Amino acid sequence: MTTAQSCNQANDGRSLQLPHSAHFFLNERCNANCVFCGDNYFNSRSGRMMTLEKLRIIAKNIHLEHYRQVILARAGDPLLCRDFVPILKYLHTTYPSVGITITTNGIALNREVSEAILECGVTMLNISLNAATKETYHRLMQVDTFDKICRQVRDFSALRRERGKGIAFTAFNPYHAL
Ligand code: SF4
Repeated sequence: MTTAQSCNQANDGRSLQLPHSAHFFLNERCNANCVFCGDNYFNSRSGRMMTLEKLRIIAKNIHLEHYRQVILARAGDPLLCRDFVPILKYLHTTYPSVGITITTNGIALNREVSEAILECGVTMLNISLNAATKETYHRLMQVDTFDKICRQVRDFSALRRERGKGIAFTAFNPYHAL
């Protein structure tokens, strides 16, 4: 459930061969059913899910303190992981110098998750919205959550302003980008 990319050169040209990013797949389930999905996470019954305990062991074994960022994305939606908030808190307190990037469809971006994202030093939050209208959204993602996500994105944005947090935040919409 983890991949790493090498960052082979320091600013002074020395060869480091240190990992750059650790990519954790947090679960194999999704609450959307996108027509373009690379798998069938919407109907997945595998039950496979990252736990805080597993992540702690992996992070220790790969010396996560040397990485520049952790990516929580793919293989279903990361926000559906039962330990998502405890994992964020653990990463923030144990590896404060490692950036955190999250990519999600945003359906489960409720108040508790939004608070945790803002309080745990997440550096980038990407929300895959995929459409600018309810009709296109439903056709592509096959769930009826467009209004809910728009509301949650607005709420998150307001909370971010209220807390004065500098997190980079995008609602990605490739099909209406032109
Ligand atoms: S949100 Fe991502 S993981 Fe979920 S169904 Fe769509 S493409 Fe697949």
